[in-house]
Amino acid sequence: MRASLATAETDRIIYDLTGIEHQYAALLDELPDIKVRFALKACPVDEVLQCLAAAGAGFDAAGPAEITQALRAGCEPDRIHYGNTIKSDHDIAEAHRLGVRTFATDSVEDVTAIAAHAPRARVFCRLATSGEGALWGLSRKFGCAPEDAVHVLETARAAGLVPAGLSVHVGSQQMTAEGWQQALDTLAATLTALAGRGIVPDHVNLGGGLPALGYQDRHGNPLDPPLDKIFTVLREGMDQLRALTATPLAFVMEPGRHLVADHGAVRAHVSRLTRRRQPDGTDAHWLYLSCGKFNGLYEMDQLTHRMVFPDHLGAQEHVPAVVAGPTCDSDDAYGDGRHPVPVPRAVTSGDPVWILSAGAYATSYMTQGFNGIRPLPCVCVRGQEGHH
Ligand SMILES: *Cc1c(COP(=O)(O)O)cnc(C)c1O
Repeated sequence: MRASLATAETDRIIYDLTGIEHQYAALLDELPDIKVRFALKACPVDEVLQCLAAAGAGFDAAGPAEITQALRAGCEPDRIHYGNTIKSDHDIAEAHRLGVRTFATDSVEDVTAIAAHAPRARVFCRLATSGEGALWGLSRKFGCAPEDAVHVLETARAAGLVPAGLSVHVGSQQMTAEGWQQALDTLAATLTALAGRGIVPDHVNLGGGLPALGYQDRHGNPLDPPLDKIFTVLREGMDQLRALTATPLAFVMEPGRHLVADHGAVRAHVSRLTRRRQPDGTDAHWLYLSCGKFNGLYEMDQLTHRMVFPDHLGAQEHVPAVVAGPTCDSDDAYGDGRHPVPVPRAVTSGDPVWILSAGAYATSYMTQGFNGIRPLPCVCVRGQEGHH
């Protein structure tokens, strides 16, 4: 990865496939009993999907186009589920035609449509979570309350579908073990309620939300999520859910960012370092880069990425600067444009900068031609040990 960044003469996003494979293996070391269904929106890059599929992962796809991409990566349809609760009749029929037999749901309306367009399919019901503790909570748009989940899965059974499971998503980049504990408690209560109605799911899908390790907060401090504690809570929670059910219970997870974020980096360059009087009367430095919210760094609203400048600059005097992207949009700046981070005072236009832990949601959130900016070219490499 370092070598590829160092030799890059133009902007690009680089993925380290070896690093992604190691990340996948490390996750299975921690949670040996889970089936991984990579949420492919986090990195819809063919080479990345191919290497995960070859390693044994399946995919959480959000619609027919993602299903098609997962199949193209060499994944069989039985390792792909339709994980989006939002789907049209046409989407359901198309997914069924492509061979997908497992569908997420969270409403009676959706279940009725699945029964019509994917008869006898397996459905799992998504439970709502609070999203507390996550950088991006996903609380209102998705999932139903436990009582409604019972009703939704009873409706599925009556419509000839298989009420196969329950799912949660604790919010993206979930920073607390408590967020997982709450979701596990809700799952336990719902499994018990379902058993009372004679519904015994064969699996629980613990969703996404596993954090990446390399991010920094808005002030440039490491986020440092308690990953070991999260894994401990997950292992204990899975044991408790298993003890609740009479038949064997399988576990699925849909990590997105956790598998790819720390194994992708952006090579960008400095546009300009400026110093200007701000509306409040203070002076501020602004560092404008060639990449920002609309071409590779979409998540700069909540986090900052580690930046590496050329060696000869790294050792020199630093000044606090607000880092921003190149577009004519004021949202295209780190932390609302209010939180400066240290940058070398001597940077000049054209200097390269490496932006680390930028592998998640980068390619999928790139705009087409906003202010004439093209999506970053994407390059996949293989590192020796998979580490930067
Ligand atoms: C986006 C998404 C994921 C992945 O989320 P991460 O926070 O990146 O792990 C998993 N499941 C579903 C249903 C999603 O929409």
